[in-house]
Amino acid sequence: MKKALIVLYMLIFSAIFVGCAGKGFVLAHFDAAMITNEDKPRETHIEELSATIQVPASPNVDNFNFPNWQKIFVDIITHLEAEIAMNNITTNNNNYINEGYIEEEEKSFVGHIAITFDDGPHPTLTPILLDALYARDVRATFFLLGMEVDRHPHIVARMYEEGHLIGNHSFGHPFFTRISRQGIIDEIYRTNRSIEAITGTVPTTLRPPYGARNTAVLEVAREMDMSVVLWSVDPRDWSFRNAALVRDHIVDHAVDGSVVLLHDIHESSIEAAIMAIDILIEQGFAFVTVEELFEINTMTMQAGEIYRSIYHSVGGTQ
Ligand code: ZN
Repeated sequence: MKKALIVLYMLIFSAIFVGCAGKGFVLAHFDAAMITNEDKPRETHIEELSATIQVPASPNVDNFNFPNWQKIFVDIITHLEAEIAMNNITTNNNNYINEGYIEEEEKSFVGHIAITFDDGPHPTLTPILLDALYARDVRATFFLLGMEVDRHPHIVARMYEEGHLIGNHSFGHPFFTRISRQGIIDEIYRTNRSIEAITGTVPTTLRPPYGARNTAVLEVAREMDMSVVLWSVDPRDWSFRNAALVRDHIVDHAVDGSVVLLHDIHESSIEAAIMAIDILIEQGFAFVTVEELFEINTMTMQAGEIYRSIYHSVGGTQ
């Protein structure tokens, strides 16, 4: 399928090249490998295609209407998407003829995603989520509140035993940017101690409540040997409380290397997470912890640095 896509791109670009040459334009080279990554969203394709066209080496520069080119790219991609859809229909029909083989090919691996849950553990909802993750052999990351850890230690013990990564989400969920430096230290320290008392392991990942951070937060994180983990996919589950909406947001936005933000204190979020996980596994994604996600992508997590996804640069306070 990927080969077919590359061939289609090549054909269409050859056609554009010829068309341009006819008008006296020279189309700059483009990187076929870069634009044939099927996992990228459509907007990214268009942006990248546009960026590969350089100002023509022609005196008729005024005639080179860039917005029109963007429209052509949209048309090309629409056409390609239709081709791919056709391909899928054919593949599905073939399924009846050669089930085993196609089954295997359909589920080929497409990427890693780290799904993360904040604000727990919740006494009844988190165990439901843990059951569902266990049944699917999926590992997640939990950013826990020290306050809740102290109330439900058995759930934290289970998370740890079942291979999930446990991170620190403060003790009582304050804005770190509105409390003193010592306040930040206390919030992180108390939670780390509570978690360590149960699992025997000190967390090395910190997600500040509300994602709020400033220089002091990053300095404290560095001193306490913790990486700051934010997210790249935010379905705003706490606000919508609508499982279908949240599921669709995750499925539409998650790509290889994404970090998804959810809260295991809302029933709708757990429903959404389970549905999204099933769909994404079917699409060929594998779920890993945040730590594993960066390790797989040969990124070493550093204390005091910010991590959102494998595509977002680290460092700074943004
Ligand atoms: Zn939170």
